[in-house]
Amino acid sequence: PVKINVFLKTVLIPYQELATAEAKEFIIDLGEEQQLLFDKKRIHQLLIILLDNALKYTAPGEKITVFSTVKNNEWLLKISDTGIGIAEEKKSAVFERFYRGEESRNRKTGGYGIGLAIAKWIVDEHQGKIDLLDTDPKGTTVRLRFPVK
Ligand code: ATP
Repeated sequence: PVKINVFLKTVLIPYQELATAEAKEFIIDLGEEQQLLFDKKRIHQLLIILLDNALKYTAPGEKITVFSTVKNNEWLLKISDTGIGIAEEKKSAVFERFYRGEESRNRKTGGYGIGLAIAKWIVDEHQGKIDLLDTDPKGTTVRLRFPVK
């Protein structure tokens, strides 16, 4: 079993430092500590993909929030940003391999459009769910839900 808050902090603190260096706010909002069974390496890889994107598509002065809680036999994780957002009609396409939004293709930020395809694969492997929601008033929220064993 993995202590989720201990685990999340080791993943998130370096990103918080990176965000701060880029003048982006980074908020870590963790619920009660719980011990869960999951593949630490894979979930780490998943979070890296999502956090890289959150930073990549968010300008200085904006905000990234990571929320985690366990309730109703489910581990809920939300990575929210106030960045450029994803248009409703593109939300399913971004999970395809090599898909990149035109905004991203034009950007200096590199990438092959493979990140979210791998993220989806890791989530499926853990019988979880991944959804893209909008952040209020703008930006992207990636919602992850994993069944608690
Ligand atoms: P990489 O292969 O380095 O991950 P990428 O970021 O382009 O490159 P994905 O992570 O698969 O690839 O994302 C696919 C597309 O989804 C991106 O090109 C971008 O248009 C969009 N996207 C992903 N995350 C966000 C986000 N947090 N905010 C806005 N757009 C996003």
